Amino acid sequence: MSIQANAPQHVSALAPYQPGKPVSEIAREFGLDEASIVKLASNENPLGMSPKAREAMFAAAAELGRYPDPNGFDLKSALAKRYGVPAEWVTLGNGSNDILELVAHAFLVQGTSSVYAQFSFAVYALATQATGAKSVVVPAIDFGHDLNAMLAAIDETTRVVFIANPNNPTGTFLTGTAIEAFLAAVPKRVVVVLDEAYNEYLEPADQYDAMALVRRFPNLLVSRSFSKAYGLAGLRVGYGIAQPELTDLINRIRQPFNVNTLAQAAASASLFDEKFLKFGAMASRLNTELLRRGVIVRPVGNYGLPEHLRISVGTAAENAVFLRVLPQAMQAASN
Ligand SMILES: *Cc1c(COP(=O)(O)O)cnc(C)c1O
Repeated sequence: MSIQANAPQHVSALAPYQPGKPVSEIAREFGLDEASIVKLASNENPLGMSPKAREAMFAAAAELGRYPDPNGFDLKSALAKRYGVPAEWVTLGNGSNDILELVAHAFLVQGTSSVYAQFSFAVYALATQATGAKSVVVPAIDFGHDLNAMLAAIDETTRVVFIANPNNPTGTFLTGTAIEAFLAAVPKRVVVVLDEAYNEYLEPADQYDAMALVRRFPNLLVSRSFSKAYGLAGLRVGYGIAQPELTDLINRIRQPFNVNTLAQAAASASLFDEKFLKFGAMASRLNTELLRRGVIVRPVGNYGLPEHLRISVGTAAENAVFLRVLPQAMQAASN
């Protein structure tokens, strides 16, 4: 009897997640210089982490002989303060990917199903299949979620609905009003995961109060990530926010030390580093740092736009210079 034959069919049939290829791999494969390679495959933050996060991470390195805090006290407290929810409503994950899997493993088994949209984040399919449950994939409209069709697809086998907002890979967006109406119509026994990995990129006008939704709907879990806007992808840290009943369930299957010490330290420090997160607040400092590096752009405070810079399109060579110095200038401006 082969080992493969002994694995459950739903496991041997899994097609693994196809991540963006690392720079080092392409350099080896095609004989290229690593420094010349541009990676635009994984929605990473090209500016990396905030200087405060870096400092906190290096300081925490001194404690690496010990296990991480299994309850993530500092980071949960920081998240609770930032979002105005009790710390007991927060679950920390080894990336928000971990949170998605915890929900899948807590609720899905063979004979049950999850519902998600065509063209939505690949991990929903993987996390579902790994449990032996069935995926009900609802056809997209305009490359986004068709919430009415998703509602209609819920049946007595449904345990979890996954929604990505904004969506990856298609970048579609659902308004807070549409999500609220959907949540009000979903049966209370079905868990809804609202995956907000790109929440920090929304325009202020598009932001909705996701925490108010969590307070109103005990079957809702909102997941977020430090990998994208906060630039901590390599550390692996994300979180879920839900009411205690749901939080308690997913914590029963969580590995006790799923978020490492460096990740907890860097995430806590970056959470309140608004300067790093918001381009707007640093427009004038960024202008100065660009000037220092020989690039002249136009502050537009006199137009009533103090949080913006106007940048003309130059020749290809001029654009290349601008793009080369921009990350250094942004790093310097956020210090
Ligand atoms: C990147 C991403 C995640 C997972 O990010 P983590 O690095 O695991 O925190 C989850 N959902 C969506 C939609 C994403 O794009």
